[in-house]
Amino acid sequence: MPRPRVGDDDALLRVEACGLCGTDHEQFTGTLFGGFAFVPGHETVGVLEEVGPRAAERWGVAAGDRVAVVVFQACRECDACRAGDHRRCARHGLRDMYGFVPVDREPGLWGGYAELAYLAPDTVLVPVPPSLDPVVATLFNPVGAGIQWGVTVAGTRPGDVVAVLGPGIRGLSTAAAVRDAGAGFVMVTGLGSRDAERLVIAPRFGADLVVDVETDDPVRALRDAAGRLADVVVDVTANAPAALGQAVALARPGGTVVVAGMRGTGPVPGFQPDVV
Ligand SMILES: [Zn+2]
Ligand SMILES: [Zn+2]
Repeated sequence: MPRPRVGDDDALLRVEACGLCGTDHEQFTGTLFGGFAFVPGHETVGVLEEVGPRAAERWGVAAGDRVAVVVFQACRECDACRAGDHRRCARHGLRDMYGFVPVDREPGLWGGYAELAYLAPDTVLVPVPPSLDPVVATLFNPVGAGIQWGVTVAGTRPGDVVAVLGPGIRGLSTAAAVRDAGAGFVMVTGLGSRDAERLVIAPRFGADLVVDVETDDPVRALRDAAGRLADVVVDVTANAPAALGQAVALARPGGTVVVAGMRGTGPVPGFQPDVV
């Protein structure tokens, strides 16, 4: 593909590293199929190769700066953007998320799995310190999700008992975030052998208790270890339909349940709406 030409309002990124997430896997296997060719990769970190003068001013950057690229673009002008809710931008959305734009939309290089990535005028950039390894910096996406789901959305407060369902990278990031926010007790759950290794390392990310729900009852385990049910439950499981019922059962009356996992399309066993 030809090297994109940079104007006043856009830029070109020399990619150093790009994360790999569940969405990439679904794109690769065809579960998520757009019906078009595209350059994947949406957890991109790199160095600004070229940046237009107006873009440099708007983003507060200069050529040579290391930045991370937020997957969704934002116009900065609509009501949602002004409220800080870039994800609900009226002008942008899934159709132009990085890593899932057709190659035949100019200039084609809309993804992080490439040497160069095009940065459109409404791109949102996050500064990355030069001292931070770009491979480590690709974790900005799951770590940001952990902070948002575990702390911002959940309103976790110092001393809270928190249960995190799912020990994937977002679950571990959530555990680290709530620990950092002062949670008093953190439980992380997983399911069987597929999660065993992650449960072993979960204490290094702030877990006081890890539970394999295949062999142990998480509600009893939490009561025994923390003395009570959870103030905050964050469900970040993938394709584990029973987790929603567990999440509700783990929350104390009046507690907060953040549903951030992927449900799949099947029914939700064990979920009792009357308890909500
Ligand atoms: Zn992703
Ligand atoms: Zn907007």
